Amino acid sequence: MSRSGTPGGQPGTQRTVEQAPVATEPARAYAELVSGNRRFVAGEPRHPNQDAGHRAAVADGQHPFAVIVGCSDSRLAAEIIFDRGLGDLFVVRTAGHTTGPEVLGSVEYAVSVLGAPLVVVLGHDSCGAVQAARESAATGIAPPGHLPAVVDAVLPSLRRATAEGVHDIDGIVDIHIAQTVETLLGQSPVLADEVARGRCAVVGVSYRLAAGVVRPVAAVPAAAVAGASTPVAPAA
Ligand SMILES: [Zn+2]
Repeated sequence: MSRSGTPGGQPGTQRTVEQAPVATEPARAYAELVSGNRRFVAGEPRHPNQDAGHRAAVADGQHPFAVIVGCSDSRLAAEIIFDRGLGDLFVVRTAGHTTGPEVLGSVEYAVSVLGAPLVVVLGHDSCGAVQAARESAATGIAPPGHLPAVVDAVLPSLRRATAEGVHDIDGIVDIHIAQTVETLLGQSPVLADEVARGRCAVVGVSYRLAAGVVRPVAAVPAAAVAGASTPVAPAA
C-alpha cells in the first residue's frame, strides 16, 4: 500500500504536501500517539495533517496508523488529545467503549483491510457509563430505553472489580479498559490472529479529563508500549 510521505517509504516519492510522519508498526504507532498526547498536554499542538493540501491528498484512500476504540464522552476527542489529523486515526466510539458486532467489524476492517497496526482502547476517569452501570447494579433498577445495552456491557468489568476488591470509580475504569482489550481479542479471531503474527497490537489507555494525559493500563503484547516512559500496570 502507498504510504507516500512516510520516512523510509518508497524511494523517489515526492512529498507534495507537508505531512507528519506516519507510524506503520505497533510500537512506533503507539509512540506516535504518546508524542501527540504530550504536545496536547503541554499546550503545544502541531495540528498535523489538518491542512487543505493534506485533505486533498488523502481523499483517494486512507491508511490510518491506529484504531481508537474510545468512549463517546464529548471530552475525549481522539484527534485532539493525540494531536493528529485527517487520515491518521480510525475512530470507533460508544458510551463506555462497549463492544458489539458493529464495533468488532469496524475494528477488523481497519486492521485487516486498511492495515492499521495498532488498536487503542481509550477510557477515562469519571466515566459516566461505568458510573451508570455501578448505580444500576447497586439499586437493581435498569435504566430506560436502550441504555441497558450499555450498562449490561459494563457489568462484567464491574463484577471483576468487585472480585478484586476494587471499588473506586477510576480503579473500576482501569479494569474495564483492560477487560475491553481482552474482549476485543477474545471475540475477534481476526484481530487475535493479526496480534499473534506480530502485525498489530492492542493497548488500553486511561485518559485523565483534567490533565489531558493518557496512561497505559494494558497491552498485548506488552512490548508495544515498551518505548513509553510510563509503566504498564499489570492486566488484571
Ligand atoms: Zn466514558
